[in-house]
Amino acid sequence: MLSESYQNLLKQLAAHIPASRLITDPLRTLAYGTDASFYRLIPKVIVKVENETEVRAVLNACRELKIAVTFRAAGTSLSGQAISESVLVLLGIEGWRDYRISPDGSEITLGAGILGADANTYLAPYGKKLGPDPASINSAKIGGIVSNNACGMASGVDGNSMGTVTGMRIIFADGIVLDTRDEDSRKAFLDRRKEMVERIVTLARRLGSDKDAVARIKRKYQIKNTTGYSVNALIDFKDPIDIIQHLLIGSEGTLGFISQVTFRTLDTPTHSATGLMLFPDIAKACEAVWILKKCRVSAAELMDRTALRSVQDKRGMPSYIKDLVDEVTALLVETSAGDGATLQKQVDDIKARFDDFPMAHEFEFSTDPVQADALWDIRKGLFPSACISRPKGTTVIIEDIAVPIGDLKHCLLDLQDLFKQYAYEETIIWGHVFDGNVHFVLSLDFADPDQIKRYQTFMEDIVALVVDKYDGSLKAEHGTGRNMAPFVRQEWGESIYDVMREIKDIFDPEHLINPGVVINDDPQGHIKNLKPMPRAHDLVDVCIECGFCERNCMSHGLTLSARQRIVIYREMARLAASGQDPLRLERLKKDFEYYGDRTCAVDGLCATSCPVEIDTGELIKEQRQGQLTPTARYIADHVGQNMGVVTSMARVGLGLLDKTHDLLGTERMTALTSRMRTLSGDRLPLWMPAMPTAARLVVSRSVTRNQADKVVYFPACINRTMGPARGRKTGPLTGTTEALLEKAGYNIIYPQRMEKLCCGMPFASKGMAAITENKARELGEALLSASDGGTIPVLCDMSPCLYHMKQTLDSRLRLFEPIEFCLEFLVPRLTFNKLHETIVIHTVCSAKKMSLESDFKRLAEMCADKVVTVDITCCGFAGDRGFTVPELNAHGLRDIKSLLPPDVTAGFATSRTCEIGLSYHSGIDFQSILYLVDRCTR
Ligand SMILES: Cc1cc2nc3c(=O)[nH]c(=O)nc-3n(C[C@H](O)[C@H](O)[C@H](O)COP(=O)(O)OP(=O)(O)OC[C@H]3O[C@@H](n4cnc5c(N)ncnc54)[C@H](O)[C@@H]3O)c2cc1C
Ligand code: SF4
Ligand code: SF4
Repeated sequence: MLSESYQNLLKQLAAHIPASRLITDPLRTLAYGTDASFYRLIPKVIVKVENETEVRAVLNACRELKIAVTFRAAGTSLSGQAISESVLVLLGIEGWRDYRISPDGSEITLGAGILGADANTYLAPYGKKLGPDPASINSAKIGGIVSNNACGMASGVDGNSMGTVTGMRIIFADGIVLDTRDEDSRKAFLDRRKEMVERIVTLARRLGSDKDAVARIKRKYQIKNTTGYSVNALIDFKDPIDIIQHLLIGSEGTLGFISQVTFRTLDTPTHSATGLMLFPDIAKACEAVWILKKCRVSAAELMDRTALRSVQDKRGMPSYIKDLVDEVTALLVETSAGDGATLQKQVDDIKARFDDFPMAHEFEFSTDPVQADALWDIRKGLFPSACISRPKGTTVIIEDIAVPIGDLKHCLLDLQDLFKQYAYEETIIWGHVFDGNVHFVLSLDFADPDQIKRYQTFMEDIVALVVDKYDGSLKAEHGTGRNMAPFVRQEWGESIYDVMREIKDIFDPEHLINPGVVINDDPQGHIKNLKPMPRAHDLVDVCIECGFCERNCMSHGLTLSARQRIVIYREMARLAASGQDPLRLERLKKDFEYYGDRTCAVDGLCATSCPVEIDTGELIKEQRQGQLTPTARYIADHVGQNMGVVTSMARVGLGLLDKTHDLLGTERMTALTSRMRTLSGDRLPLWMPAMPTAARLVVSRSVTRNQADKVVYFPACINRTMGPARGRKTGPLTGTTEALLEKAGYNIIYPQRMEKLCCGMPFASKGMAAITENKARELGEALLSASDGGTIPVLCDMSPCLYHMKQTLDSRLRLFEPIEFCLEFLVPRLTFNKLHETIVIHTVCSAKKMSLESDFKRLAEMCADKVVTVDITCCGFAGDRGFTVPELNAHGLRDIKSLLPPDVTAGFATSRTCEIGLSYHSGIDFQSILYLVDRCTR
């Protein structure tokens, strides 16, 4: 039960924000409240905000009621700065997405909710990119990147937000808005917030007059530093508005809300070369950094021997790594230039400088992007490797320190000694050595008080080492958060810490914005509210809750993302194992049924961006299997055994529906069916005008030509049942495919007793393992026989079925879905005549997982003058869920209409069910690509 003040807050907010975006239930407050750090706070209220007016409403209400509030972008923060036990304000997925680029690409203005990687996609045509480059750039949003002053391998201390932000729109704790790019806004702010501005100017003056402090700040920011506030803003800038703007950078959401940011962009190098340099030990590697500093080097990444060992078996890693002695340390070095000749000069220069330098192995620089990518992927794989190999049930802690480069060698040796002393074995060290910045990870079991105690004393030793011995940064990139807040005073000393406290007081006098972060008087703050990581299921135990899966998870923003499903699953496992709070467990279980299970598309796209390749859909499928009732199992078995009858009945049903549609017309049919669905309590499936007509029965053909001309055609059961949408001139897909294959000179072999066959995927998605296996076995046998033991290629006309077949059927079978098949078997035999039209293509999830996106575009471009792709991850139709949980499909395709140019005439995909939803939500007729290929070939 919420306290009175939170209830009052909800009442006030209800006047400004729709109830659907004010969240208080136990499942979503836990799921949405979790970030990538190892801290856990559960918010009382979550507010999803879509515009500045809503942010101001929240800030005003919270101020009036004295309630704390925390902002959240993508929640990939590692130091505990994006969590709250009070009000958590989440950037919604609709707003915050506007951007504009200056004509020459030298500046970009971005909404706070835009992913860093998307910003770089917008800039790519200009040959430009953002300066900040955190490893999490694919998932982190602009609001979070700037608020954490996040950066990575190449940005250094000049390319981060501090060095590249040129303007900002800020909402302060009292709701006042400042646009630093707008003269009127600047003037109005100086006028309205006189006292605040005067205090900032006085503070800057006071600090500026302290020569020692100024020298220290300058020295400390020569390397990366995100501990405490960006006090360099007070000495690097004179104009109070410029000071304010730069203080917001790295302030971790504790000084105000950032709604828009303008960046100066950087050139993207056109030529680069990568080399793996191996040194006899860590000391020599650190000495090499000084030499590399004199060369044109854009990135230099250190990997110690333990790190190298953890990835030495990966593809792309030179085989000799395994045989190197224990002390060897690597630097992965990249040099970039605007043209090939300059690049070669740079490579020669690096090589010459290392002629006489002791190396553990010879090195070469490669300009081959495949080789370079393989090496960088290995470097990026260090962290996931550490996550995967950690004991189950433990939490991963990633540390992020920096010391002056001259001290790096000694600091790293000291670090290695500390690991030994604390028995943190197999702890890997890697990092951006040009910035004196290294990372290391620990895995701890927070359920064990001894391990917490050991971590606490280890941290004290780390602080002593980094601060007292080397005057370095306790957090170089990841932000102070809760993790380092108790040590900010120790790192910066009393007087500069006082300046930081005053900054907080000036911006947020009542300390209501993100309390406990950056400034925290509790010396134990870093070991409180630790997140439990109980063992829950082998499929997800290695999850680190980083959130990288969210950008690909189609239910993210509607119900739960993959990460959030795992968070709830873990909590349910913890409660079940401990026996604590059975009521809460029951409630979570009940709510998970819809939020976790029913709205998961089980498309597995989450695995494609997960550093440890977790497919949360597999977990959900397994859960569905466990929940099947005996009746459901019986029906599934019956359907599976009688596919022929079921597909015939479905054809009859579709035929009847089509006749009724014809009789009633679209409007009345829509009204009638939606009323019936409502009356059934949404148990009846949704009817849409894009509904298919009945397909025709497919009959087998005899084979007459020689083997080179044969193809086995397996029409998926969906295409054997569903014909084109009403009113289309084309016939069922099976007929078109037959005609196309014959046109290309192929004889078609149909598998025996085809009407009974199904790949089993529809059963798999419902967790029906036994019938899935049976169907796969039957189909495998039929295809092996039809394809002469796998010698004749097999075409399946649905990508999802083919993907499932590739995973389940005999590896001798040569299986092709439409895109691959056309490119390999039809393109060489047919003449393509491009249509003078603009078409849109959508690569369905299974084709994405088979990396067919660019192949699809290539094929479509042979068929039409202009091909548009839409930036949609998964359409959310998910087999039959488009009919039974239509909000999933509507969510997946919520942007499609706005993404389509007005001249698009037709859409193409490779999955019949996805095409229904795509047609319905886009208003464009989507069909199989096979129709298009047939239409434009001779
Ligand atoms: C595997 C992994 C690797 C990482 N690698 C790097 C790396 O290489 N370099 C690096 O620097 N970081 C790294 N990080 C940390 C993190 O991803 C970055 O700091 C990232 O920029 C955070 O962005 P976010 O959108 O997730 O922000 P969030 O975590 O949501 O928020 C970050 C902070 O900003 C505040 N905030 C968010 N939006 C706003 C807003 N609109 N206005 C005001 N305050 C706001 C929040 O309150 C919070 O304090 C990594 C994280 C993970 C999980
Ligand atoms: S499933 Fe993977 S990507 Fe998603 S939170 Fe877990 S580890 Fe990160
Ligand atoms: S299977 Fe799809 S919907 Fe389910 S968690 Fe993964 S990405 Fe999200």
